Amino acid sequence: MRNSLKMSRRSALAGAAALPLAAMATSARAEAPIMGAGSAPFRRVSLGGYDVTTILAGTRPVEAPHDIFGLNVDHETFESVSRAAHIPTEVAQFFFTPTVVNTGSELVLFDTGLSAEGTLAALQAAGYAADQVDIVVLTHMHGDHIGGLMTGDAPTFPNARYVTGQVEFDAWSAMDNEGFNTKVKPLAEQMTFLDDGGSVASGITAMAAFGHTPGHMAYMIESDGRQLVLGADFANHYVWSLAHPDWEVKFDQDKAAAAATRRRLLDMLATDGIPFVGYHMPFPAFGYVETREDGFAYLPHSYQLML
Ligand SMILES: [Zn+2]
Repeated sequence: MRNSLKMSRRSALAGAAALPLAAMATSARAEAPIMGAGSAPFRRVSLGGYDVTTILAGTRPVEAPHDIFGLNVDHETFESVSRAAHIPTEVAQFFFTPTVVNTGSELVLFDTGLSAEGTLAALQAAGYAADQVDIVVLTHMHGDHIGGLMTGDAPTFPNARYVTGQVEFDAWSAMDNEGFNTKVKPLAEQMTFLDDGGSVASGITAMAAFGHTPGHMAYMIESDGRQLVLGADFANHYVWSLAHPDWEVKFDQDKAAAAATRRRLLDMLATDGIPFVGYHMPFPAFGYVETREDGFAYLPHSYQLML
């Protein structure tokens, strides 16, 4: 394939002097390299008077996803569910998607990605600077959510205060976890702690979603009568976690509690027709939920939140 392309380009160049200008321009365009899949690393929608922007802080393929999702089902079941959804079983694409909510008076960043580098690149592509962030909300303390908090010894978001769940902070304080100790603890002085129903800012309310971690929180965003749930990690795959909420997930610390939370929130989203952002849903990570058989199905957002 490559060789025949080269051949035809060479013969095109050999005859270039005799060719009209338009034909030369065509052969010059063929020099563009193959770049692989790509998209802008942000997506902004309107929710009432708020801007809600998802930013892709990182994405990568992960092998052997059945070692992570569906720990309590056999491989045949995992394969047939995956095949029905047209996704492979030997590798999955993972996404890491923080969300920025601009209420008009405060810029709120939910989670910070695997590293400051990836998160800042996507944040800047979306038109925001690190020093504009007023509040950083941590949904939970896993490394892919707290990884961007610090740049060396300095906070990545120099003007921000921090909000997280009380139960989550207390649970991780009692563990000896390096990520928590080096990234979260140094910021504890500027941190405020919420329980279920607590308010981050106008229209942003905490919802207990325990199980994935001891104090994992989701958030309801409301503006001018419009609602959106930031689900964080209550469901971590758009097929395996939605079609089968009871499939056990390696990263869920309390597997039974995580499954119960998954069913409760998915049922609420499906019943009330509320869109949600999932931190690990396929980018741009906005979607809807509908009931299907004993589980649920993911419907990616199209243009509903542009109107
Ligand atoms: Zn995560």
